[in-house]
Amino acid sequence: MTRIDDNAPAGTMDRRRFLLGAASLAVAAGLGGLSRQVGAQAAPPAAPTAGPFTLMKLPYADSALDPVISANTIGFHYGKHHKGYVDNLNKLVAGTELADKPLATVVAATAGNPDKVAIFNNAAQVWNHDFYWASLKPGGGGEPPAVLGKLMETAFGSVAACKDELKKAALGQFGSGWAWLALDGGKLVVVKTANADNPTTKGLKPLLTIDVWEHAYYLDYQNRRADYAQAVIDKLLNWGFAAGNLA
Ligand code: MN
Repeated sequence: MTRIDDNAPAGTMDRRRFLLGAASLAVAAGLGGLSRQVGAQAAPPAAPTAGPFTLMKLPYADSALDPVISANTIGFHYGKHHKGYVDNLNKLVAGTELADKPLATVVAATAGNPDKVAIFNNAAQVWNHDFYWASLKPGGGGEPPAVLGKLMETAFGSVAACKDELKKAALGQFGSGWAWLALDGGKLVVVKTANADNPTTKGLKPLLTIDVWEHAYYLDYQNRRADYAQAVIDKLLNWGFAAGNLA
C-alpha cells in the first residue's frame, strides 16, 4: 500500500488520517480486502515474517469461488481465521524444538498429547486449511478422474453414492469440524472429524476435505450448512487434487 504513503505529504499524515485513508481504500475494494489492507498498513514496513510457519498463498483469487463461496467469506476465512492459526502456531512453538519441524510432523508429534493441545489445534488447523483450499477450485465438481471414480464405485457403489456420503458426513458432524474423503489402506472411506482433528492422526490418508466450521459458510448461507455442502460438492470440489493424493 505504497499509494497512500506516496501521495501523502511527508510528515503530515498522523495515525488517525492514515487509518482513515486505509479504511476508505478497503471499502472501495470490498470488505474482503479490509482485513489484509489494514493489516498490511499496520505492520512495520520492513517486518520479516515472524516464525517458521507461513500462511499459504491462495491458489486462486478471493472472488474465484463466487457465488458458492463469496470473496467476503474468503476475506474472513483465509485472511482472519486461517492467518490466525498460523500466527498462534508461530507464537506457541517459538523457541521450542517444534519450531524447526515440518507442519505435518508438528501435527503428528502433538496429537493426543494433553500438554500440547493448543499447539496441536493450531498446527492441525493450518494443515487442514491448506488442504481445504487445495480441495476446491473454480469450476470444480463434476466427474472425478477415472482412477478415483473406480475406487468410489468399489467402496460406495457409485460416484453419486460417494458424494452423498460426503454430504452426510458434512451434515452429520455435530458442531465444528471437517468432512473428508480418505484412504484407509487401499480402500476409500468418508469420515468426519471434530474441531481441529484430521484423519492423519488415525493413520488415514486424506484425499480432500470440506470445512464445516460455521466460519466457512455462515456469511453466505447462515445456518444452511446443507446448501453450502451441496454447492461445494457440485461446483467446487477439486477431484483432480483428490486423485493426485492417491499416489
Ligand atoms: Mn475454517
